[in-house]
Amino acid sequence: MSSPVDNTENTGDEKEVVSRNFIENIIDKDIADGCCKKVVTRFPPEPNGYLHIGHAKSIVLNSGLAQEYNGIFHLRFDDTNPMKEEAEFVESIIEDVKWICGDLDTDQIYYASEYFDTMYECALKLIKKGKAYVCDLSAEEIRQYRGTLKEPGTPSPYRDRSVSENLDLFGRMRAGEFEEGSKVLRAKIDMASPNMNMRDPVLYRVAKVIHHNTGDKWCIYPMYDFAHPIEDAVEGISHSICTLEFEDHRPLYDWVVRELEFENPPKQIEFAKLYLTNVVTGKRYIKKLVEDGIVDGWDDPRLVSVAALRRRGFTPESIRNFIKLSGISKAQSSSDYAMLEYCIREDLKLKRPRMMAVLNPVKLTITNYPENEIEYLDVSNNQENEEMGTRKVPFGKELYIDRDDFMIEPPKKYFRLYPGNEVRLMNAYFVTCTGYETDDNGNVTEVYCTYDPETKSGSGFSGRKVKGTIHWVCAETAEKAEVRLYENIVDEEKGVYNEDGTININPDSLTVLDNCYIEPALSEAAPMDSFQFVRHGYFCVDSKDSSKGHLVFNRIVSLKNLYKPK
Ligand code: ATP
Ligand code: MG
Repeated sequence: MSSPVDNTENTGDEKEVVSRNFIENIIDKDIADGCCKKVVTRFPPEPNGYLHIGHAKSIVLNSGLAQEYNGIFHLRFDDTNPMKEEAEFVESIIEDVKWICGDLDTDQIYYASEYFDTMYECALKLIKKGKAYVCDLSAEEIRQYRGTLKEPGTPSPYRDRSVSENLDLFGRMRAGEFEEGSKVLRAKIDMASPNMNMRDPVLYRVAKVIHHNTGDKWCIYPMYDFAHPIEDAVEGISHSICTLEFEDHRPLYDWVVRELEFENPPKQIEFAKLYLTNVVTGKRYIKKLVEDGIVDGWDDPRLVSVAALRRRGFTPESIRNFIKLSGISKAQSSSDYAMLEYCIREDLKLKRPRMMAVLNPVKLTITNYPENEIEYLDVSNNQENEEMGTRKVPFGKELYIDRDDFMIEPPKKYFRLYPGNEVRLMNAYFVTCTGYETDDNGNVTEVYCTYDPETKSGSGFSGRKVKGTIHWVCAETAEKAEVRLYENIVDEEKGVYNEDGTININPDSLTVLDNCYIEPALSEAAPMDSFQFVRHGYFCVDSKDSSKGHLVFNRIVSLKNLYKPK
């Protein structure tokens, strides 16, 4: 796990010391030097899939910096590659970014494809400066001419075409006169550069395809390394923050903005990607799980796409806190899923009501409790947050308890229900087990108890103590529900990938419990509402499959904490 760089520490004299991350240090200096007047950042997704937790890091980082420096944050669709984008993803990305940021105005949303005219003008400018040329080499020849890390490249035979010939050919490329792959526009930089990206990279290629935004207006399209710095510069981005794999592209980024003579050129800064231990984040892999029908769409709660995390019941606050804890640095590292779980527990702990739900029920009958009587007990909604008030919970002669909470022959240190033992029914009375029934297979079908009316919770009774407290729901008033428990979709023991490159699917990643009983107060729960089910964890009403009369709950996280905050 990476160590948090931007955490808040308490020193001995109680003064707060907030250490800045390396990006904040750069921005502070740029502001002090006067070369940054206003901080403008962006998140530039390609609309070719759903966003995942890794993208969330980039969103939180960029939008957070804009907020911190009173600047502006842009969501910019990097939709310059007509072959890869799909319009359907645009909407989901906007929804996800809005959800993570809390808000996003339409005037913060940009589309790189709207700059195609500007990019074309930029290409003409480079040609006129003698900094770009039309090259007739094939893609394969360009690769061969490029040389290797040890050997310099060989100049293209077309490198010294005149400006006027280049302008003519480039104009005709645009007019559709040339076939795909027959001509490209290349930057004229340095075929001997130790940085391969600087060996006359391709800036424009012919692609006779319909673009989702510009239709058939263009048959030439800019390459990423040319388009991206222009997009940033046009939008007045001050700091173009990207992931480490672009470090080697920075000299080219700087070359583009310098040669195009932008007044306040953006500065590229790289940081390490967020990885989660044993979790698949790559868009391609998630896509494969979806296409192979292994998961129920991009928002299957076992995935870590933003849509999936939302459906599972994670909150934007928990995601933001997780990203803060994982830290911003240049060192590659992997964060622990347990830390994400810690963050959601911490977020929900004081905000969500604690309810009783029995996931694997067995009936418990209190033989000395009056027939046909239901009493309403006052129960605190959240013992750690009294402001959440109380509710009335029905209690009666017949209850459901969780199967795990009764054993015929208990092992040592089992303090729950077994013949002869007394426990507290949470928020209610002490009961003593007097017997049980089993079916032909020896499965317990019913448990019998007697209760002590003196021991009512909150009555001040202090006659004797019991070691175990178990939860329950009143059988007569209980609602039925379906509960889905999730485990990691990949088998943690064996790692993410098999030897043949396929994903190592955990066969137990989804458990459906369709015979659960919940308190009647939960029957009004709406999609996305979340609760603590005492002793079981935090649960969220599924937004896709739940309906009134057939409630479906996703377990967000259990109560067991495997992460120790520093
Ligand atoms: P993937 O690798 O999952 O296919 P991508 O990087 O191709 O994703 P883009 O749409 O290009 O997806 O990403 C948009 C932005 O999100 C980029 O600036 C990219 O650097 C950033 N990003 C992608 N993955 C991560 C990650 N794991 N951690 C932090 N930032 C990321
Ligand atoms: Mg990408």
